[in-house]
Amino acid sequence: MKLLICSARIVNEGASFEGSVLVDGETIQGVYAGLPPPVSEIGGEVETLNAAGLLLLPGVIDVHVHFRDPGFPHKGTWGSESRAAVAGGVTFVADMPNTLPPTTSLAALQEKNAIAAQHSLANYRCYIGATAGNLDLIAKLTPNDAFAVKLFMGSSTGNLLLNDDKLLSRLFAECRLPIVAHCENEAIIRRNTERYTAEYGAAIPFALHPQLRSAEACYTATAQAVALAQKYGARLHVAHLSTARELALFGAGADKITAETCPHYLWFCDDDYAAKGALLKCNPAVKAASDRAALRRAVASGAIAAIATDHAPHTLDEKQNAYLRAPSGLPLIQHSLVAMLELAQQGVFSVETVVERMCHAPARIFGIRSRGFIRAGYAADLVLVNPRAPWLVTSENTLHKCGWSAFAGHTFSHRVTRTFVNGKSFEF
Ligand SMILES: [Zn+2]
Repeated sequence: MKLLICSARIVNEGASFEGSVLVDGETIQGVYAGLPPPVSEIGGEVETLNAAGLLLLPGVIDVHVHFRDPGFPHKGTWGSESRAAVAGGVTFVADMPNTLPPTTSLAALQEKNAIAAQHSLANYRCYIGATAGNLDLIAKLTPNDAFAVKLFMGSSTGNLLLNDDKLLSRLFAECRLPIVAHCENEAIIRRNTERYTAEYGAAIPFALHPQLRSAEACYTATAQAVALAQKYGARLHVAHLSTARELALFGAGADKITAETCPHYLWFCDDDYAAKGALLKCNPAVKAASDRAALRRAVASGAIAAIATDHAPHTLDEKQNAYLRAPSGLPLIQHSLVAMLELAQQGVFSVETVVERMCHAPARIFGIRSRGFIRAGYAADLVLVNPRAPWLVTSENTLHKCGWSAFAGHTFSHRVTRTFVNGKSFEF
């Protein structure tokens, strides 16, 4: 049975128009501006879905998620987090390697892929993590082996830290996959942590998180990664930009060196630590309102090519700990698209830009074939959004396994009403 999604407002490839999309099985068969062809002309059995008043977008491609599986089922699993993803309009995810075992070998990649194959509702691929011990393997990898290489230049959840200058040079010289880097300078963070621990003990106020994980730590590491990529001609994608200052390192048009930012850096600022405390503790830290403003402008201009979530769930219990023991990271994937569409509605950037940064650019940057665009012959990864369906975020309607969201209490104007993954329809 074919499906004709009619009379939607299609947002795709910089344009926005009334039209219809014909889905045949797992694939988009046709995209029509204005009226679709009569059902009698399409051939075969055709079901019609009236999408008048709804936005029809390509499914979101989120290239930065931590689904915590294998290893941390109390925080999240492929089943639970992919369900939250699809509910939020995300149809493809790339999972980070700081799981248990860490994804730093082909065997661990295989193990994770097998779990995802069994439980993921979304399309997926997995990263391999760079460590001091696996650079021989990484030099041999092709895009068929892993989605990309994750480099932690500052330690975060799980310890895959690689910050030895010689090893970093080797990685950038030899790696043929895109290197996605978490850029925070470890020495600067350690120095800041010692200073604030001497002053406050373990109970450092959460509002000081951006002083410990400082803008200087971000800039120093990002500048180093960009310099290495330039020196060796490596393909570098800097994860989760959080500061205005780092933006000077990225020019529009540089296709070998790209950057992403995340919904929380575009939505929150350091003022929010007072109310949200540990819930907003993440690495890099959410910085000042001036950083947020600069990041928003960079998303609008294209200096930041992509938006990914860094979806990183922890339980509320874990977040009850004092500052030094409260884990960093927050769950975001169910709300990323509606949050960005709301910023578009506020005039921060356009809806077309949201689609470019969340759907098209990730496909282009990582060479994801036949996804990320609404085109005939492409996978039917699509999302329908009602732009006038206000809903309050509560713990009851939060699908992340950890059961909470930093957006709780907020009423979003946009609601995802249906998501198609490879033509399969999901409603939540
Ligand atoms: Zn991350």
